[in-house]
Amino acid sequence: MKNEKKILLLCGKESIKKNGVLEQIRKALQDKEVIEFFGIEQNPDIETCMKALEIARKENIEFILAAGGGSVIDAAKYIALAFYYEKKDPWQILLKNETEPNRVLPFGCIQTVPGSGTEFNNAFVLSNRSKKLKISFYSHKLYPRFSVLDPETTFTLSQKQTAFGIVDMFVHVLEQYITWPRKAPLQDRLGEALLVTIKEIAHDLLANPNDYELRATSMWCAAQAASGQLSRGVPTDWATHFIGHEITALYDLTHAQTLALILGGVWEWNFEYKKKMLAQYANRVWGMVGDEDLLAKMAIIETDNFFESLGVPTRFSSLSLDAKKVAADVISNLSKREFTPLGENRSININAIKEIILSRS
Ligand code: ZN
Repeated sequence: MKNEKKILLLCGKESIKKNGVLEQIRKALQDKEVIEFFGIEQNPDIETCMKALEIARKENIEFILAAGGGSVIDAAKYIALAFYYEKKDPWQILLKNETEPNRVLPFGCIQTVPGSGTEFNNAFVLSNRSKKLKISFYSHKLYPRFSVLDPETTFTLSQKQTAFGIVDMFVHVLEQYITWPRKAPLQDRLGEALLVTIKEIAHDLLANPNDYELRATSMWCAAQAASGQLSRGVPTDWATHFIGHEITALYDLTHAQTLALILGGVWEWNFEYKKKMLAQYANRVWGMVGDEDLLAKMAIIETDNFFESLGVPTRFSSLSLDAKKVAADVISNLSKREFTPLGENRSININAIKEIILSRS
């Protein structure tokens, strides 16, 4: 960012005004020309991103600084990608109808809502509310130039935001860990280190939101969980995220909330297949002992209990949602487009998604 003069400062709504980040940024960028864009919403929408993109192009922006949570950073990645795209509708790149441009606008991140881990990777998720879509995308060009993680900026997060962040980072690890036995002991242990650490600090963090060390640990766990190192050379699942995105697109539920609703259902659906890793997880992370079947079943119950203990429900009825209607809406939305079965063994077809949602009513 040293050489770039014209910066687009991309922000959410209010939080960076409250936590002092905006003031710090304005001071640090005194010698730059900074265009501020406020209003990136949770689950960033293509419409808002297109407004920011238009400004970025009109102002000949040279660098994007994203300050806020994962939504703001994801929006920055999309704008960076779309900036040099010459045709009319850059949404087409996400649908893989068009090849992506050869270059992207450089960007940096100031992450203030730990959870998504997007500050440490090359992926983003974008919503298109008018089409009821939420699509993930990644490109090797989309790594941030830098990411600033300052635990003090997270002191103002609410209990709910903190709990959602914990659930999101926890599930990120699990999506890369509960698969078939992989004979990859280091990846196993790296995942377990994160899971145990997150589990150990979670309740303390909710009780002590201004504790610097706890905030720092949570921030570092979130970044590590989604950095890509856990998935090197091993299969990954991500079915829970895919189904969760569909539910968010239809019901505008918070991302982490959808994960807590779905994860146990995916595990039950693929129980025989994932049994060994579920049992290992129950033993090494939750300290349980017993035979494999029992341990694997207890892993599902214990994980649900953990999310519930953070105040994040794991059943649709707790949110006054009818699972039958959710399942029907998701299936109808999915049947309108191309769909590849999900999960590390590609066993989750459209009917399985229906069963998974119904099992969590
Ligand atoms: Zn996530």
